[in-house]
Amino acid sequence: MDDPDPPQAQTQPDPQDANLTTPTPPANGIDDATPGTAAGGPEPTPSGPHLIHALIGHGPGGLSETVRNSIGGLSETVRNSVTSLASHHDFRLRKDKDKLPDLEKGQIHPLGKLESLRVDGNGDEDALSKKPPVQPPPAEPSPLHLLTLPPELQSEVLKYLDFPDLVHIRRTCHQLRDFASPHHIDIIMGPGCLREQLERHCKSCLAPDPYQSHMLRGPHTDPGYPLSNVCFKCALKANDRRLRVGNTVTLANGSLVYVCRWCGSPVAFGLASGNDQFHQRCYTLFKNKLVHFFFIGCLQLGLGIVSAVLSWIYFHDVNLVLGSTVTSFLILWICLAMTILRGNGRRSNSVALIMELAIFWLWVSPVYYIARTIAGRSPDDGPIARSTIACLVVFILYMLFRLINIVGNIVLLRRYDTTRCSRGGVPRWRRSIDPVLRGLVFWTHPQSIQQ
Ligand SMILES: [Zn+2]
Ligand SMILES: [Zn+2]
Repeated sequence: MDDPDPPQAQTQPDPQDANLTTPTPPANGIDDATPGTAAGGPEPTPSGPHLIHALIGHGPGGLSETVRNSIGGLSETVRNSVTSLASHHDFRLRKDKDKLPDLEKGQIHPLGKLESLRVDGNGDEDALSKKPPVQPPPAEPSPLHLLTLPPELQSEVLKYLDFPDLVHIRRTCHQLRDFASPHHIDIIMGPGCLREQLERHCKSCLAPDPYQSHMLRGPHTDPGYPLSNVCFKCALKANDRRLRVGNTVTLANGSLVYVCRWCGSPVAFGLASGNDQFHQRCYTLFKNKLVHFFFIGCLQLGLGIVSAVLSWIYFHDVNLVLGSTVTSFLILWICLAMTILRGNGRRSNSVALIMELAIFWLWVSPVYYIARTIAGRSPDDGPIARSTIACLVVFILYMLFRLINIVGNIVLLRRYDTTRCSRGGVPRWRRSIDPVLRGLVFWTHPQSIQQ
């Protein structure tokens, strides 16, 4: 009995497939030589290693046609990727030429590693040399700013700018300076609108004042007219001649207001009730100074009376002291009567100075007498009487008050302007002594700022 035909021998693998499959390591660590995988006959249902081979297309005899096609396509993809990557590196290399001197010198070729990755399934070494044209680098996005807008849109933007912004934008560059020219702005806004814009801004600091209530009206003869109005702050800083106490100034809106007698700024707002020459806040400060002046006057009057009484009690037998103190006492009351009768009227500072000098001089004699008596005492006379020391202290204190009055009247005679330092152009030394001089004025006669 003949033996049945031997089972069909295993299909001989294609040498080309063998070349491709030989170096391939077992996928997922599963050995291809697993028993049973090379058996012929009806193809068993994929399971275990068969399932894996079926999934990857690697039959027991080598790579299937599908796999070869896949590998061919994969190699083509790899070539394209390598070519694209090389082009990218060429571009980066040119861009970073200065940063990579070694690469430029050829010591390290940027594609050195990529050359080793070249895969040519057909053995054609020139296949990769047929690189597609190098793609130009993507254009960098253009910067976004005002100048990239069309001129029509730039003109629309200018319409919404205030005058200071227009001035500032003209300072940015020549192109915008030419574009935002006065002629162009005049066309965009119209002559009336531009004129209003100019009149509502300070010519010095360009600060806007929509209601023109905080600016002095500039003369039509100003070279910058209609940009001739000036804000209060700039006018004070520039020591504007119009800002003098007692003057009235015309605001840019046509109002006529006084210059505040306390701060020197025009009384355009916060008018004091009952006095249109003060701000309300300044008028409150001024009335506080009047109260202080009243208490200082009472203190001086009290010191004058006490001094006179002490001299009459303890030195009534000394004609020099008695005559001086009586005369001084009479002058004191004359001064008081003049102050009361004159009220807030104009005060004669020269007359007041003479009276103060007289009072001060009349009290020199009593002080000198007491000091000479104390200095001429012998040790046998015993301690100095407390009454004598008290009289000396009170007399000196009263003379000190009168001395301050003398200096204050000299300052008043010099017509010291208490608002001068609120304006510009004042030397530093003048600013440093200004508090003292203001204090002397308010000590001596605060009503003088109303005169
Ligand atoms: Zn200003
Ligand atoms: Zn004021």
